[in-house]
Amino acid sequence: MPDRDDILTELGLMPTWRLRARTDGISAAAIDASARGDSQPAPAPTHAGADARSARIATLEWRDFAADVDACTACGLCRTRRKSVPGVGDPHAEWLFVGEAPGSEEDARGEPFVGQAGKLLDNMLAALGMKRGQNVYIANVLKCRPPNNRTPEPREVESCRPYLDRQIALLQPKVIVALGKSAATTLLDSDASIASLRGRAHRYRGVPLVVTYHPAYLLRNLPDKAKAWEDLLFARRTLHAAGGTDAPPHAGSLRL
Ligand code: URA
Repeated sequence: MPDRDDILTELGLMPTWRLRARTDGISAAAIDASARGDSQPAPAPTHAGADARSARIATLEWRDFAADVDACTACGLCRTRRKSVPGVGDPHAEWLFVGEAPGSEEDARGEPFVGQAGKLLDNMLAALGMKRGQNVYIANVLKCRPPNNRTPEPREVESCRPYLDRQIALLQPKVIVALGKSAATTLLDSDASIASLRGRAHRYRGVPLVVTYHPAYLLRNLPDKAKAWEDLLFARRTLHAAGGTDAPPHAGSLRL
């Protein structure tokens, strides 16, 4: 009895073509779902696909970075974002500030921290004698806005992590400042409170990392601004201890 392949050959229908797994970690099932117009979140990438995608992102240069983020479809946030928000700043910055995820204004403009929390972050930088774009780079854990600013889901964080890792590898900052719980949890792989993580120099991939409150939290909890100022001064001392070359510490006061 002829087998299926013999019959297909007789009919001139061989070889058959199958959709292969894509190298960016998106499975054939995800492509099918997308073709059907499903609004469900994309199925999880296969392990091999996710590894290949991470390896590819780990070789990106700055000139290709933003376009790559913009083309990313690794999680469902690509369907609801208006603009991706890769990051902004000096590509040789010694300071890297990491927040959680874009909000509404960031999603509209494609730049991190441009809303109310961003104004406070700019004031914090100014109090240190710094300014966005000059020896400072600002990024988020997630490069796309979660709908209604909900907390990032672990799968979204894992999908986006290769981009943050590549930013850190390209920058080689002297200090990373984790702004709030999401950034601290992601970078330190710890669920500890901000209060318990403050005041110590942690490390992420060998880079000193200081934890402080998220500017959006500070807007709601004004008394904690003084603690954030202490954290920034500590971050600056940490940067100098790591060989950072920015202006030497001076007595400052935080007028936020
Ligand atoms: N909050 C963040 O964590 N990041 C932004 O870019 C804006 C608000």
